[in-house]
Amino acid sequence: MATITLPEAEVQETKKSTTKYVYFFGGGKADGNGKMKDVLGGKGAGLAEMTNAGLPVPPGFTIQTEACREYMRTGAASKEVDQQMDEALAKLEALQGQKLGTGENPLLVSVRSGAKFSMPGMMDTILNLGLNDKSVEALAKRSNNPRFAADSYRRLIQMFGNVVLDIEKSAFDEVFDAKKKQKKTKLDTDLDAKDLQDVIGEYKKVVKKHAKRDFPQDPREQLVMARDAVFRSWQNDRAKHYRRINNIDDMLGTAVNVQAMVYGNLGDTSGTGVGFTRNPATGTKEFYGEFLMNAQGEDVVSGVRTPVHISELEKIMPDVYNQLHEITTRLEKHYKDVQDFEFTIQDGKLYMLQTRNGKRTGLAAVRVAIQMVEEGLITKDEAIFRVEPNQLYDFLVPRLDEKSTKVEVLATGLPASPGAAVGKIAFTADEAVKMAGHDTTKNPVILVRAETTPEDIHGMEVAKGILTSRGGMTSHAAVVTRGMGKCCVAGAGDIDVNEKAREMRVKGQTFKEGDWISLDGTTGRVIKGKLNTLDPSPDDPELQKFMNWADPHRKMKVRANADIPRDAIQARAFGAEGIGLCRTEHMFFGEEKIPHMRAMILADNEKDRRTALKKLLPMQRKDFEGVFKAMDGLPVTIRTLDPPLHEFLPRREELMVDIALLPSYDAKHKKELVAKYKDYGAKVVGDLKKLLPTLLARVEQLHEFNPMLGHRGCRLGITYPEITEMQARAIFEAAVDCTKKGIKVLPEVMIPLVATLKEMANQGAIVRRVAEEVFKEKGMKVDYMVGTMIELPRAALVADEIAKESEFFSFGTNDLTQTTFGFSRDDVNKILPTYLAEGILKQDPFAALDQEGVGQLVKMATERGRKTRPTLKVGICGEHGGEPSSVEFCYRTGLNYVSCSPFRVLTARLAAAQAAATDTLKVEGGRTK
Ligand code: PEP
Ligand code: MG
Repeated sequence: MATITLPEAEVQETKKSTTKYVYFFGGGKADGNGKMKDVLGGKGAGLAEMTNAGLPVPPGFTIQTEACREYMRTGAASKEVDQQMDEALAKLEALQGQKLGTGENPLLVSVRSGAKFSMPGMMDTILNLGLNDKSVEALAKRSNNPRFAADSYRRLIQMFGNVVLDIEKSAFDEVFDAKKKQKKTKLDTDLDAKDLQDVIGEYKKVVKKHAKRDFPQDPREQLVMARDAVFRSWQNDRAKHYRRINNIDDMLGTAVNVQAMVYGNLGDTSGTGVGFTRNPATGTKEFYGEFLMNAQGEDVVSGVRTPVHISELEKIMPDVYNQLHEITTRLEKHYKDVQDFEFTIQDGKLYMLQTRNGKRTGLAAVRVAIQMVEEGLITKDEAIFRVEPNQLYDFLVPRLDEKSTKVEVLATGLPASPGAAVGKIAFTADEAVKMAGHDTTKNPVILVRAETTPEDIHGMEVAKGILTSRGGMTSHAAVVTRGMGKCCVAGAGDIDVNEKAREMRVKGQTFKEGDWISLDGTTGRVIKGKLNTLDPSPDDPELQKFMNWADPHRKMKVRANADIPRDAIQARAFGAEGIGLCRTEHMFFGEEKIPHMRAMILADNEKDRRTALKKLLPMQRKDFEGVFKAMDGLPVTIRTLDPPLHEFLPRREELMVDIALLPSYDAKHKKELVAKYKDYGAKVVGDLKKLLPTLLARVEQLHEFNPMLGHRGCRLGITYPEITEMQARAIFEAAVDCTKKGIKVLPEVMIPLVATLKEMANQGAIVRRVAEEVFKEKGMKVDYMVGTMIELPRAALVADEIAKESEFFSFGTNDLTQTTFGFSRDDVNKILPTYLAEGILKQDPFAALDQEGVGQLVKMATERGRKTRPTLKVGICGEHGGEPSSVEFCYRTGLNYVSCSPFRVLTARLAAAQAAATDTLKVEGGRTK
């Protein structure tokens, strides 16, 4: 239970005596209101707003976020917080005519966290607080239901023990399971009041044993301890993890909501549920939700029992259903956004426990935004802020290819989060992380659980998809995966998941860890084996409509990084307005090209190199023609050869082994070696004896200790100018040939890894000379540009110089991040997890641009470059070009375009539109500033 102390710099000066720490709500009036999310958290603000609107909300009070920040700084709540809390409690007691945990009709409360941004299930909640050995008796009498009273008490001890006293959940589960075993039953509900009293006795022993103290009987002591535990839960590992992946500020803190309990488990006229005013998966305008009769809140969301569709409520309690529908419709109109609500029915009376803007899939976000414009609730300008740029990825999620393989549906669960996922089964979050390793694409994993809990978050993050056998559309698994844009099938009840035995059983078959399954999150089907996936079509008419509202705001162009015509065509379909980076090295990997490429590298003199390059020239030209054709009318930036040459050669150690073992190999093995080295000129076994040592000698010549800082980028073109010459020739010959065919070609030749003006001048001169030669030979000129990547700090520092020879800059922020931090981009994963966990870095700088550091170089280079050449075209082509916060930075820095992988083009378009619209419309998140 370590207390985290904030650095002094973060300490905000607050005048303690005047700070209002506690905000009351109840009796139709609230101290706060819905706008006060910073202070009251999302939940507290919602409760205040609903109370003010006269809705049936159980009364209570919110202890504001500043108290949590103080707690983090000092390790304790101040006297002022205690005092204001006691005053609010007295007011609540007076309003209810009850006393906390005392008397014949004891007041019981819930204590819940609630931060500014919703963090579903990440922090802690305690229900039934105020129960003790005495008040449980009173509750039994009052409710005339001793079982209910005992059940409420045992739940309190369990939650309190776990959350406040840090006792493992399993310690309580063991007691409970033992009781069920003794009674030979599987269902909790089969235990009667007497059984539960036994459980309570055992639970108390668990508390004593693990916490070395008794379960507190004093209700106020319970309240203070619970409040402080909720403050501390802001710093638990899963909350920290959630904040990191959702980019939520660690310094915000959580509020604590203390609210009079209402009971959904009082019998058959009580119940509890959650819902959305529109379908959060598809966006369909339908009243959508789930509930359970005779149950308490956590039962619905934890997936312990599979809930019933809300439409059933209309049959059981039509009046309550109508009231709920009417209230939530009003709430949606009031907030002008989809509401995610929680309610409880106690003895036939409806209470609203929470309302907040509902999380939804990208698909739903676009549909709802359009509906709300059409309904006149919001404007088109507001609508474009209703979708997170990253959510557009949902439109691009793959589908299962059901034609290629026989499809055996094992079970159908709920379509909790759309898309398809194919992978190997892991039954625990830790195992999922282990199996995925450093490459979640190479090692796809499906996390299979009976139900997920917030503790599984690290496994969910690496998994391609999630499958649960219990839980509904609002279960933890469903909510979290939708937020992550990850495929999920929830509540597939036919599947029997045995996490301990690491197996699942369905349809008489057993599946073990490592077996392949395929999930269809759009239909909820679980399919045996490894299916292929199909690319989605990006031409959804509603997506087009939405993008037509967003795009006109945009000031920056969005291009794609694409190396082959297929990717260029795909990028264009997603709306790319050019190619910002064509990595020509990827073009050399084709089967027919690689032998010539290797011959070129192995050549130890210019003549042999030129011979090999001559063979490559027509192939390169054909590649460029393909790309120019795909991008007809749009600019194409082609980069000259960048990577170190040894990347195209065999590994040194492998060669040494083959040389050493060659004499001992039999004929079959030798033939295999000929095949292995055929691209290097091996035709018959006799060739190997001379070839392999020659190869090794060249590999050793090219060997570098630090190839990323070595013989690569423009350094290659400077040491072997014939390579740049061949590439320039291929580009311009293709450009002229295409132009002659009526294709509009706008080539931009880009020189990589430039650090000095003279490097740029050297390579620029070769490109321009070859262009002139080709134009003369072919009798036709084509407009073109020559520019550079800015991917070394020195280049940024002398950008004014480099701009003399460079008509455009494109920031290679992958290398620029590598060289500015001195982090190897290939090995950083050894360091990064610790850096993120320790808060040394807030985000992976290779994913989101480090605006503070690397960003300064981008800004400086742009300014300096434009000082020399005011017309300088500036873009970015590192991975950051498709990441929303980096795109926004590029807009603020005045870049002309961003370029990213084809699948991020939609995201970049929306991020660029939102950045510009925020400026021009003077709005923030779609609301007037
Ligand atoms: C970069 O360094 O940002 C870049 C785009 O080039 P590459 O990733 O090919 O090194
Ligand atoms: Mg680079």
